[in-house]
Amino acid sequence: MTRRHSKTIRIASLALGGTSPIVIQSMTNTDPEDFEATLRQVRALKDAGCDLVRLTVPSENAANVLGRVREAVDLPLVADIHFDYKMALLAMDRGADKIRINPGNLGGREKLEAVAKKALDTNTPIRVGINGGSLEKELLKKYGHPCPEALCESALNAAKSLEECGISDLVLSVKSSDVKMAVAANRLIAASCDYPLHLGVTEAGTKHMGTIKSAVGIGSLLLDGIGDTIRVSLTADPVEEIAAAREILDACGLSQGGVEIVSCPTCGRTKIDLVGIATELETRIKQEALAPSRRLKVAVMGCAVNGPGEAKEADFGIAGGVGEALLFEKGEITKKIPQDRVVDCLLDKIRTFC
Ligand code: SF4
Repeated sequence: MTRRHSKTIRIASLALGGTSPIVIQSMTNTDPEDFEATLRQVRALKDAGCDLVRLTVPSENAANVLGRVREAVDLPLVADIHFDYKMALLAMDRGADKIRINPGNLGGREKLEAVAKKALDTNTPIRVGINGGSLEKELLKKYGHPCPEALCESALNAAKSLEECGISDLVLSVKSSDVKMAVAANRLIAASCDYPLHLGVTEAGTKHMGTIKSAVGIGSLLLDGIGDTIRVSLTADPVEEIAAAREILDACGLSQGGVEIVSCPTCGRTKIDLVGIATELETRIKQEALAPSRRLKVAVMGCAVNGPGEAKEADFGIAGGVGEALLFEKGEITKKIPQDRVVDCLLDKIRTFC
């Protein structure tokens, strides 16, 4: 996969775009004026592996909370601004590392210019976030309904307005709850500029459905080499978004380290509790936060039909027998393991890479 060329921008100590790793982000859903609850959630997101957290800033108190959280935790924070440009100014004064705006709902050119001036003065990058549900009336009139072309045009118009104000540290996003529209809009915009792109399927749904929609939408684009930061929007605890985002990156082969388990679906030939083994292995890797510095592929196969072939492609793996399994390393059988020792044996091998 060849990654789309995008410019690199800095958000505090974080590099976004260019050849930097894909940034995982999420958004708090606590009361934005509740400092303790918001700080707790930002810390939980950080512990889960989130690189960048967005906080909504609808009031002066919320801007103050963002400032206090920023001082209490070493993680870049993005202020999410809608309608009131003064909140953008306040958030930047309080130390927001980036702001997300939809220029179309800020209330006119003068207000956008004020936001741009503050962003330049405080060296704050801006994300232009365009959603299918909040397109300008003129574009809806021109295209008749939300569509990829309208989303793309809205984002490029906003980028142009900000460029005219001297802004160049921009990130763009064009989102829709319709997966096909989100993908098409991002393909269009990817071909039209070199700004880093923030990917997401908005209002994707509950944990299960939202993860599937996001995996299809975000994953399709990542496999095209498009995208510099992702947010999996779930109707769930935001911490769940981080696990889903990581799994999408894993599936696209874009993780820097970690363990990829290749396991068969089982069939009538399976004579070992392969479902139990694969599930326990995955759970204990997460519980123990095992993180090999390079990507490891571990095969967990039910029998000798496909087992040796898959195990050869993997770093190591097992092929199930009757109440026991064969351990393969570099394509060679190295030992037999009783069923109740299989997970421990694989974990021991993974630990040698951590
Ligand atoms: S690897 Fe063996 S047990 Fe697993 S699905 Fe294939 S034939 Fe069945």
